[in-house]
Amino acid sequence: MKKLMKPREAEQSCLALLQLCDVVSKLTQCQAHIVKLGLGNNPMVLTKFAATASDLKAVDYASSVLFSPDSSTHLYDAFLFNTVIRAYSQTRHAKHEALRCYRVMVKSKVLPNKFTYPFVLKACAGVGELNLGKTVHGSVVKFGFCGDSHVRNTMVHMYCSCSGGIESARKVFDEMPSLDSIAWSAMIGGYVKVGSSSDAVELFREMQMRRVRPDGVTMVSVLAACCDLGALELGKWVESYIEREGIGKSVELCNALIDMFAKCGSVDKALKLFRGMSGKTIVSWTSVIDGLAMHGRGEEAVGLFEEMIGDGVVPDDVAFIGLLSACSHSGMVDEGKRYFSMMVERFGCVPKIEHYGCMVDMLCRAGQVKEALEFIRKMPIQPNPIILRTLISACRAHGELELGESITKELIRAEPLHESNYVLLSNIYAKMKHWDKKTKTREAMDKKGMKKIPGSTMIELDNEIFEFVAGDKSHKQSKEIYKMVNEMGRKMKKAGYVPSTSEVLLDIDEEDKEDALNRHSEKLAIAFALLNTPPGTPIRIVKNLRVCDDCHSATKFISKIYNREIVVRDRNRFHHFKDGMCSCRDFW
Ligand code: ZN
Ligand code: ZN
Repeated sequence: MKKLMKPREAEQSCLALLQLCDVVSKLTQCQAHIVKLGLGNNPMVLTKFAATASDLKAVDYASSVLFSPDSSTHLYDAFLFNTVIRAYSQTRHAKHEALRCYRVMVKSKVLPNKFTYPFVLKACAGVGELNLGKTVHGSVVKFGFCGDSHVRNTMVHMYCSCSGGIESARKVFDEMPSLDSIAWSAMIGGYVKVGSSSDAVELFREMQMRRVRPDGVTMVSVLAACCDLGALELGKWVESYIEREGIGKSVELCNALIDMFAKCGSVDKALKLFRGMSGKTIVSWTSVIDGLAMHGRGEEAVGLFEEMIGDGVVPDDVAFIGLLSACSHSGMVDEGKRYFSMMVERFGCVPKIEHYGCMVDMLCRAGQVKEALEFIRKMPIQPNPIILRTLISACRAHGELELGESITKELIRAEPLHESNYVLLSNIYAKMKHWDKKTKTREAMDKKGMKKIPGSTMIELDNEIFEFVAGDKSHKQSKEIYKMVNEMGRKMKKAGYVPSTSEVLLDIDEEDKEDALNRHSEKLAIAFALLNTPPGTPIRIVKNLRVCDDCHSATKFISKIYNREIVVRDRNRFHHFKDGMCSCRDFW
């Protein structure tokens, strides 16, 4: 007769068996053994079982055993639940499962501990539902874990990951008794994620004042904010700070620096960093290719892409977006077509809407409107409104006005509340000189309560970022700025500049149109820079929309008259103005 094991011995034997378990098939044997020895409710054994399953990436199996309808979950403890919740919260696409386990825990009246909530909050962040996050926040308060810094840090992260949660995140952050670099990083990163980059920079400055040492993660977020704001001076300062403080340069941080320099207009510096970097990833290559594309240096972008393939790096679909946009911005239509086929045939990438968008953009910029239309007809997926708007702009620019009109009308039927569609239609009527139809379009817009997105331009000066909107009078130097704008206008006219008023939407007489053009935000920002920087200093500005024809031509004149290099980043690309010329060769 077999001797019956004592409970302690049985427990040890199961733990030993689980320790040796290295494949999923052995896990099922272990489970049979656990049941046979009557340890189906023993939290210690089950925790080891769950942890082993998690190591073997078989958490679903563990969960099906542990949470079957006849399991006695009320006998489990917090450590067992935490093990499963953690395993799920670290698995992609399994955040809902983590939350399901947490609900079983609460229902089984097992008290959570301070280790439970960071995993639960992490899962909430993955799901991204604000109300769910708030409910969990309520439980944190109820069970008294508000004071735990790890719980609070994850709560900030959770709120930052649920859109609409940024203010709650800041509230939790502000109420924290002591702030470590993780909390600062989470909050700064949160601001970047929702596009509040100035808030991110401001918070970073506060972090400096409080003498909290940032880590690499913080710096990656701050660099992303610099990118967004086009704040090259701040970005350079961040670079020297990283050197000075000896912050470890991870691959991620190197990539962030490269991206910052490329997107803030210093693509040569980005290239230099890229060349000196060891352990380049596809992200490093793509950042430089994108940067070159935005600066209209298409041939170099193509060269680098070829070098990347030569290096054995397999391009992904993101790399192809950069490459195709490089071809588009540099008017390299044949190369673009060739790479588009190569992407499909050689690398087996299925083109996404962004790739089709690049191709349409490329054909349109080159004035091949009919080809673009044909291309769209042959696309296996529906063109999105962005592609259609590109086509419409091309119709207007290249005189295919009736075609443009009919596509715009179609687009308005599909998207009746999108203001830029009406602006496009109104601009087409202006070019057709159909003033009555144009007025009607404007009226339709007003009736629907829509306004054109206001143009705005940012400029960095003495570590501060200034933002101008069209017709801005809020700046304290406003009087001098407008005086300067007028002076610029006079000097430009003398040099042969003719204002191109056809893009001005309002139906006003010529002189007023000119006045409206003079108030465009980039002109105000350039005037501000001319007033406040020594002669010869390059001027860098960031525009939120595409630069209009008139500002483009005016900036060329200004660069020559005032002998300034002017770098403009607009919504699509960079323009380097120098000596009366632009790097885009008037093709943007
Ligand atoms: Zn303009
Ligand atoms: Zn240009």
